[in-house]
Amino acid sequence: MINEYDVVVIGGGIAGLYTALTAVENAKVAVISKVHVTRSHSVAAQGGIAASLGNEEEDHWEWHMYDTVKGSDYLADQNAAEILAKDAPNAIYTLEHMGVPFSRNAESKIEQRRFGGHTKNFGEAPVKRACYISDRTGRAIMDALYDRCLQKGVAMHNEVFIQQLLFALNNCCGAAGYDLATGKPQVFHAKAVVLATGGCGKIYKTTSNGFASTGDGFALALDALLPLEDMEFVQFHPTGIYGLGILISEAARAEGGVLRNGLGERFMERYAPTLKDLAPRDIISRAILKEISESKGVDGKDYVYLDLRGIGKESLNHKLPEITSFIKTYLGLDPSETQIPVAPTCHYMMGGIPTDVDGHVLADKAGPILPGLYAAGECACVSVHGANRLGCNSLIDLVIFGRRTGLSILKEIRTRICQPLPVQAESIVIDKINSLLESHGNERVAVLRESLQCLMTEECSVYRNGQTLEHALAQIHLLKKRLPNVGLTSKSRIFNYELQEALELNNMLRVAEVTVYSALMRRESRGAHFRSDYPNRNDEEWLKHTFVDETPTGLKENYKPLASGRFAPEKRRY
Ligand SMILES: Cc1cc2nc3c(=O)[nH]c(=O)nc-3n(C[C@H](O)[C@H](O)[C@H](O)COP(=O)(O)OP(=O)(O)OC[C@H]3O[C@@H](n4cnc5c(N)ncnc54)[C@H](O)[C@@H]3O)c2cc1C
Repeated sequence: MINEYDVVVIGGGIAGLYTALTAVENAKVAVISKVHVTRSHSVAAQGGIAASLGNEEEDHWEWHMYDTVKGSDYLADQNAAEILAKDAPNAIYTLEHMGVPFSRNAESKIEQRRFGGHTKNFGEAPVKRACYISDRTGRAIMDALYDRCLQKGVAMHNEVFIQQLLFALNNCCGAAGYDLATGKPQVFHAKAVVLATGGCGKIYKTTSNGFASTGDGFALALDALLPLEDMEFVQFHPTGIYGLGILISEAARAEGGVLRNGLGERFMERYAPTLKDLAPRDIISRAILKEISESKGVDGKDYVYLDLRGIGKESLNHKLPEITSFIKTYLGLDPSETQIPVAPTCHYMMGGIPTDVDGHVLADKAGPILPGLYAAGECACVSVHGANRLGCNSLIDLVIFGRRTGLSILKEIRTRICQPLPVQAESIVIDKINSLLESHGNERVAVLRESLQCLMTEECSVYRNGQTLEHALAQIHLLKKRLPNVGLTSKSRIFNYELQEALELNNMLRVAEVTVYSALMRRESRGAHFRSDYPNRNDEEWLKHTFVDETPTGLKENYKPLASGRFAPEKRRY
């Protein structure tokens, strides 16, 4: 079936919905999502969305920009960080006017709390900058955007799994996939295609990400012969529930929670004397693992405690109801009485599809744009987060750069001719599905996927080194060789999750390979990328972005200089 639109947005998280809502002002727009749109990972965002409103204490966008750049370990493009910090207050007011029910302070202003790495007066002390809706911030923003999109006539194609971008005369002119409910192909024809497919936390065994975060957008870009940028920078959030990876938001520490090692010590005082438990995530994740390696984990095990007892039952129920409830559900514990076992969990990709500040996808490091193709949200690398993202800076990135992407599209599609679809649009998808359904191979998707996830968790995690990365790369090559021998136990076309997972596994392997390769090439430590064999930041050689391409002879790296700006690199002290 061929669906005709002006704009198709692949991904229905906050980035996709915001782009769609902006573009629908003057275009026929569709959002496509492999899960029901309202189940996109954005709904899981708990803690907040950053903007220097100054509702609780003095704050300025310049301070927010400084924190973003310093938090990024100076790898952010400063023009992008400036846009983010400057536009954030207005973006919050726009959300408020759409009906997002922000939590309020005693003066009925939008309430704000502290969050990791956000400071006043260029690093002096923590500042209250995170706006929030108790601990359901993503859910509330998604609900408002979804309602608006429906009201304005954005078409929703739920449970459609995109497999291929379509090009004609070097313009992106659509995308092809299939309907998960029926297995039937679906082709979308448009003047503009947006990738808003989120992250790829599922390449790790322990992750805070939902099941849909398998990096499909990254793989679609690689298929289109596009490079991926800065993929070595994978954020591990310090407080995942031990063994499960489910996130306990930084909001818990903002409200007074503290981390304790097995000796009961508040160890962050030693690693970050000013910000303590609200230091950036890369620093806290490394501190936790250091304590564990020095046998100061709880009972000699590989976790520490998050102690929320000081917050009090009433505040926990009022400000952190979601967290309190899932700690009870998953651990059977009452956080007002008992400490929570936590360890770092894979959380966010700083890297992604190279994109300029207006959402255009860049074809290579020299920066020519690919007409008709745009990217926004976690799958895009603008690059505003550099080597490490600050908490609450993703949601504001989705809103600001989602809107800018929608505006570029509105301007550009007026004069863009819709190129005819390539003739083989449907058959690409049909062939892919048929070859898997007809395969009699004896490899199983779940086995290969688990091997990949364990490998990434063991060898390309918070700490990495040349030896483990070389080994991981060789193992990924072996897993890739086994992939064509995958056979499915179910041959049905109706909601065949095994088929879906086989297709996702192919994407995950390719994204993992680029991640490990990028990490191997960057011989320094910066932000979330810590090489124990190159433990220092090396600004002379490595103040540049990594670009990795898939070529017929294997992966190939290139580098692109940063867009520098007003803040010169300093040593990061917190
Ligand atoms: C548990 C958790 C808590 C977080 N809390 C915060 C927070 O408090 N503050 C903050 O700033 N950030 C937070 N983050 C980060 C932030 O929520 C994410 O980075 C952000 O929501 C990603 O949004 P997105 O729109 O880019 O993609 P997502 O919301 O991940 O949506 C991706 C969309 O793409 C679709 N898709 C993917 N592949 C395909 C395909 N092949 N075909 C069709 N559709 C496809 C999916 O179905 C989905 O609709 C949190 C993240 C997690 C995991």
